[in-house]
Amino acid sequence: MTLISDNLKTKIEDLAIFGGKPLFSEKQHVGRPNLGDRTQFLNRINDMLDLNWLTNRGPFVKEFEQKIADYLGVKHCVSVCNATIALELAIRALELTGEVIIPSFTFIATAHALQWQEITPVFCDIDPITHTIDPDKIESMITPRTTGIIGVHVWGQPCNIEALTTIAKKHNLKLMFDAAHAMGCSYQGKMIGSFGDAEVLSFHATKFLNSFEGGAIVTNNDELAEKLILMENFGFSGLDNVIYIGTNGKMSEVCAAMGLTSLESINEFIEINHQNYQCYQQELKDIKGIKLFTYNQQEQCNYQYIVLEIDEEITNISRDKFVDILTAENIIARRYFYPGCHRMQPYKSYFPHAGLLLPETEKLSNKVMLLPTGVNMNPDKIIKITDLIKFILDNTCSIANKDNK
Ligand SMILES: *Cc1c(COP(=O)(O)O)cnc(C)c1O
Repeated sequence: MTLISDNLKTKIEDLAIFGGKPLFSEKQHVGRPNLGDRTQFLNRINDMLDLNWLTNRGPFVKEFEQKIADYLGVKHCVSVCNATIALELAIRALELTGEVIIPSFTFIATAHALQWQEITPVFCDIDPITHTIDPDKIESMITPRTTGIIGVHVWGQPCNIEALTTIAKKHNLKLMFDAAHAMGCSYQGKMIGSFGDAEVLSFHATKFLNSFEGGAIVTNNDELAEKLILMENFGFSGLDNVIYIGTNGKMSEVCAAMGLTSLESINEFIEINHQNYQCYQQELKDIKGIKLFTYNQQEQCNYQYIVLEIDEEITNISRDKFVDILTAENIIARRYFYPGCHRMQPYKSYFPHAGLLLPETEKLSNKVMLLPTGVNMNPDKIIKITDLIKFILDNTCSIANKDNK
């Protein structure tokens, strides 16, 4: 016997968007924090208070940096207060100027970190399969002012690092990666974190691994790491000696304590995400017009993002309509990187025609929809979501008719 829940949808009037009862009584968000062991965290807070050392490279920050570096197999981890500041610092420490090539299909911070210091982000199109910057389109964008490339490992899917490294070498450009999504992911068997001149991680609350707010620059370059440690602390080298222009980018002890606690649960987070991913995959596998982003099974992956591409021509219902219907059901589906950095200010005004060079970015940002996963989700909840998706697809005509009334 199948259990029929009281909010099962049998007719379109049951959809919350048409006045029915929402499928979930509480909002199911993309990016609810993955929380680790509360007791461990609280113990650390007590130790921190006993020690009365709250910031300025205290013991928790040092331990966190060491453990991240060990986990990734990289020489240096410089923790900072968030990944946006980490990007700004790395860009400055690598002495990027003029123009830097980045994808437009990324979180706005990648572009802002450049523009903030009056470096022009030059938007490059993406590969529609991997959703990362398309190496074949980079060389035509290089000008005498170009000083670097920043690839973004979108969804934890590594960029084509090999091709980007070759291009960077050939044109004598710096190569950085925005690895905000890619903690715990690997490329050709090696953990993301030691590629290019530097990679930047985010430990924001909504990311795979969190320290409330936080970020880090990871690199094998000794000189760069040393410079970054100065820059994130006002350029102080010793108590009364400033030797460099700097800012305040320090991670606090409480954030590092959270980061350490999260790191202890990293395998559990991956396992839960992987199970959730497999459940979505199983339930959505026969649905035409909806494609679940696939990860390379040969690599390690954090499975933190459930990314669907909605092909409206096949589904007969737009991505945006899907988002509206799911949101009404308290499934807070998200359009990610929509409409693309090049369509947001100030870039929209600076480069009004950028879209012409970014056909894949434009297409993808109109198709992508993210669904919730993480430790707050489980297969039971996921099947409720996928059953709802199937119900919507079975009723697209009546939904459109009702909308048109
Ligand atoms: C979240 C994110 C950032 C910014 O990270 P913060 O820690 O929130 O500053 C940068 N780039 C990408 C791709 C992101 O997803």
